[in-house]
Amino acid sequence: MVEVVKHDVVIVGGGAAGLRAAIAAVEADPDVSVALVSKVYPMRSHTVSAEGGAAAVARDDDSLEMHGYDTVKGSDFLGDQDVIQYFVEEAPKELTRLEHWGCPWSRNEDGSVATRAFGGMSTKRTWFAADKVGFHMLHTLFQTSMKYDRIVRYDEQFVTKLLVDGGVVRGVASLEIRTGQVRAILGRAVILATGGAGKIFPFTTNGMIKTGDGMSLAYREGVALKDMEFVQYHPTGLPGTGILITEATRGEGGHLKNSEGERFLTTRDYGLGTKAELGPRDMISRAIYQEVQAGRGIKGSYGEYVHLDLTHLGEAKLKERLPFVLELGRTYAGVDPVAEPIPIRPVVHYMMGGVDTDIDGATPLSGLYAAGEVACVSLNGANRLGSNSLTECLVFGARSGEKAVEFSKGSNEGSEGAIQTQIEEEVARLDALRGRKKGGEKIAQLRRELNVAMESGCGVYREQSSMRACVETVAQLRGRVSDLRLEDESKVFNTELIAALELINMVDVAEAVANSALSRKESRGAHACSDFGSRDDQNYLYHTTCHFDAAGPRLGKKPVTLGKWEPEERKY
Ligand SMILES: Cc1cc2nc3c(=O)[nH]c(=O)nc-3n(C[C@H](O)[C@H](O)[C@H](O)COP(=O)(O)OP(=O)(O)OC[C@H]3O[C@@H](n4cnc5c(N)ncnc54)[C@H](O)[C@@H]3O)c2cc1C
Repeated sequence: MVEVVKHDVVIVGGGAAGLRAAIAAVEADPDVSVALVSKVYPMRSHTVSAEGGAAAVARDDDSLEMHGYDTVKGSDFLGDQDVIQYFVEEAPKELTRLEHWGCPWSRNEDGSVATRAFGGMSTKRTWFAADKVGFHMLHTLFQTSMKYDRIVRYDEQFVTKLLVDGGVVRGVASLEIRTGQVRAILGRAVILATGGAGKIFPFTTNGMIKTGDGMSLAYREGVALKDMEFVQYHPTGLPGTGILITEATRGEGGHLKNSEGERFLTTRDYGLGTKAELGPRDMISRAIYQEVQAGRGIKGSYGEYVHLDLTHLGEAKLKERLPFVLELGRTYAGVDPVAEPIPIRPVVHYMMGGVDTDIDGATPLSGLYAAGEVACVSLNGANRLGSNSLTECLVFGARSGEKAVEFSKGSNEGSEGAIQTQIEEEVARLDALRGRKKGGEKIAQLRRELNVAMESGCGVYREQSSMRACVETVAQLRGRVSDLRLEDESKVFNTELIAALELINMVDVAEAVANSALSRKESRGAHACSDFGSRDDQNYLYHTTCHFDAAGPRLGKKPVTLGKWEPEERKY
């Protein structure tokens, strides 16, 4: 018998967005009970690895207007301006609230909150706690969530399916990794807070767990994935591992240099003007790529790279502001950033696209909400500004938590029989996959092929022919993934089964990325298309939507909410 547990709101994900949503939900109503389901112990969510900071207006020389405009411009005018407006207004309140809950923001001499410069932001507005921001934010949220016994945790449980009846989401099917037991966790609203999907690419800053599960869960139930063509490359990852060297290094004054020791962002025209190293990520990643193409890269065992030079900042400042970068450079690149430049190259970092939601985090599927990196609330448009994401998790995590509670009050539990049938089918699917020896395909092989296809088709620069090839490869992988061979029959900690489920999810996400990319015949933000070099507002000022269909993905459009900032050429 499948165990059935009932709550009012089920949240999938224990990162910043999930925890913030959980706290908001229990604070919104003294009677609400929340299930917090996470495939890893919450403190191991990817949020913990965020380094640089979280954006919100804090200084006298700043304004909500400026934060709003920077975000709209950073998005290459594809961000929804009502969402951006709400975001910038709530951002300072959320970061202050986090301070009251115990987040140790770094301070200025006079005791006020310190802020640092970040790419594409016109003044210092990124709050930080040294360069371990995600760690401190997640601790703060986690310990705050523990005050509420109405937040019931289901740690190390892998959600495999949304339970839907009568057009309304009713809960989730969840696999307990330790025992292999499947449980129905029912709720009258469900919030997806499962994070991004960087692992569809081979070279990424993202943790192993970022396989786009929540995107796939929603996609499979007919919810569109929106703006999936926009994949962010971070300019500064360590070659080999992809470990992130935070943008805060440039915020604190670091320089990028080519093989000739030239600070190319200041000497050559990459459209960044005086911004140089403080330009947005898409443009700097392309500049590095072009330097390497022009023969000014430095050859290494993991391909060509350029240098990030921090040596002029001095040991004292590096120790105070960037201690983690010193550690990462020494341990993973074999260089001492105090005395030597750090080798870096662009690396896949963040998904601008995700589950289609409105400003409340509500998806088109009744009762289903999404927040954080899994969602596309249309804050980031075609390119996210660094440090807006952690704040996004708080602002829209909170909003979706409150809205989900409201929804849950007007909803019912659905038909018991229909839910029972779905959960039994899900158990049968997992049983058939576990130890499936009759299959002919290996998980690792398919994952490798998927990764290669995505990098060659949907990298920093894309062209029609390579995107088309990528679409075809992903379509073949969709077929091959149904013929997986699994060796492990055990129910206890069957990590092979988890890897198989994650691979199946990644194919869904990759399908949406590749098909959406192929359909956008212009260059905008992170989507730099060699065959169509400029932005085309006449024909492409819209959000791409991608719906699952057994016959192949269905693409559509959604209007961008414009406002006081008219689209203009994006120059810095
Ligand atoms: C190295 C690095 C540094 C970064 N630095 C910054 C920064 O300085 N500033 C900034 O603004 N942004 C930064 N970002 C981006 C930002 O950290 C993330 O976008 C954000 O933390 C995502 O939070 P989240 O809550 O949406 O998801 P995550 O923190 O990724 O959490 C996802 C949760 O979902 C759960 N989950 C996933 N799938 C399932 C499933 N199938 N079943 C059950 N549970 C599931 C996981 O267990 C996890 O708890 C950084 C990202 C990286 C990778």
